[in-house]
Amino acid sequence: MSLHLDDSEGALGVRVTIRPAMAHNVTKLVFWGVRGSTPTLERDTWRYGGNTPCIELTTPDNTRFILDCGTGLRMLGNRWTGSLGNSRIEAHVLVTHYHWDHIQGLPFFHPFFEAKNKFHFYSFQSKHLGPNSLRQVLEAQLASPYFPINVSMMTATRIFREVTGGERWEIKGTRITTSWLNHPQGCLGYRIDTAGGSVVYATDNEPGAPEMDLGLRQLAQDADVLIYDAQYSPEQLASGRKGWGHSSWLEGVKLAREAKVRNLVLFHHDPDSSDQTVDGFLLAARREFPATWAATEGMTISLSERGVGVTLRESRLGQRRRLRFAATVTGQSEDGSTFEEKAIVRDLSLQGAYLCLNNRPRLQSELRVVIDAAGDDDHSSLLSLRGTVVHFDPGREKNQNGVGVVFIEDSDPTPSED
Ligand SMILES: [Zn+2]
Ligand SMILES: [Zn+2]
Repeated sequence: MSLHLDDSEGALGVRVTIRPAMAHNVTKLVFWGVRGSTPTLERDTWRYGGNTPCIELTTPDNTRFILDCGTGLRMLGNRWTGSLGNSRIEAHVLVTHYHWDHIQGLPFFHPFFEAKNKFHFYSFQSKHLGPNSLRQVLEAQLASPYFPINVSMMTATRIFREVTGGERWEIKGTRITTSWLNHPQGCLGYRIDTAGGSVVYATDNEPGAPEMDLGLRQLAQDADVLIYDAQYSPEQLASGRKGWGHSSWLEGVKLAREAKVRNLVLFHHDPDSSDQTVDGFLLAARREFPATWAATEGMTISLSERGVGVTLRESRLGQRRRLRFAATVTGQSEDGSTFEEKAIVRDLSLQGAYLCLNNRPRLQSELRVVIDAAGDDDHSSLLSLRGTVVHFDPGREKNQNGVGVVFIEDSDPTPSED
């Protein structure tokens, strides 16, 4: 299967536009949480995202699956509540294991609190919890003194099924296969064979246990998409993080090659990995296995007989302004070759500015900043921005004040193009 980027900014900042493939049997994956261990709020993790694991999978016949219930689950619930209105929701929830980052979203998923909805849960019996492990985990999270309301408020029908490694079953023609992964207190990898393509979800796994390594290779054999634990660098995995139950991009590449998977998705990013660190892992992995992606919150992967399509959600955080600037763009094409071309920048997103003023504006007051490109007679680059004052200092210029502004949403943005 081949790949295309669909009108989105690639993880390396290269913008590629290709029309989406139209196909009938499309299986869709949406990443709602991609961060391992604990949610992150640091700004330098915003681009890949800070919510813990949760992936939505929808088969061509609209059978819904949820892979893990980390903090990303809350946003999925809000999306369903918003987009499905009053229709009844039924979904199959595949849980890999009981570490916090895979279950912490459970109490915040609104569709659980609607009696008309129905959920089928699948996970293994933990030797620490005994029978009904997942049910216990869910009920314990909604118990005093950990949560304000108790589980009786969760009125959706809940059906729990315990599964184990090496099992296989079908849900409306979609085949689910499991395999044990090497992780403290146990973890299951899932393979989901749908009419649109095959997805393997194998997170929280440390390579090096021969039997489980082999089981995982069999589970991943010829998969269209392998979502794999790439929490650490190969160096961390070899030294300080040995025994923590995780893996690296390099192990993901090896597995992807050996199992002949078509696309590798690096997943479960370390909470201490900045976006730049993840960029580095992705770049290194792509040198070895070009069809690699770094899981990003809001990323969508569509699988069909026509191939695999990847889109990213809107990720430019600053205020956008239309303009026309000439630019020289260099980058890398989908086939790996480099290119350079002249282009027009049609809009820019701007976060803030530092100004030297004779006046002294009040901290936390509003400013209007109109920027005109020097020597631009027809004002085609005019930018009118509304800002709020966030910083004041005696100024870098003599007798002037230094003023920092953050641009805020303009209720009446002035288009600059016309
Ligand atoms: Zn985890
Ligand atoms: Zn874990």
